[in-house]
Amino acid sequence: MTPTTANENATPGSVQRMVRPRTFEHFPPTSVCPVCNTSEDGECLLLEIDGTRMESICEGKPVHLWCAVAKRFNPEYRIIYTKV
Ligand SMILES: [Zn+2]
Repeated sequence: MTPTTANENATPGSVQRMVRPRTFEHFPPTSVCPVCNTSEDGECLLLEIDGTRMESICEGKPVHLWCAVAKRFNPEYRIIYTKV
């Protein structure tokens, strides 16, 4: 997958800006969405893959936009997520 940049706007002591994710009109046919395990065509976005960041670039994993919408909230850990 093409490396992508993400969220380099935070600096110590500043308020971190929310960066609007870049979306793509078509899902890459050679990839599989990690949520629904299909390559169905449709709008998608790239998620940063943990452990791949080198300075300002990282590897991205395409995920359908409709699959990336969080469906759960955990108040203890203050995270929103989708259980797969
Ligand atoms: Zn999906």
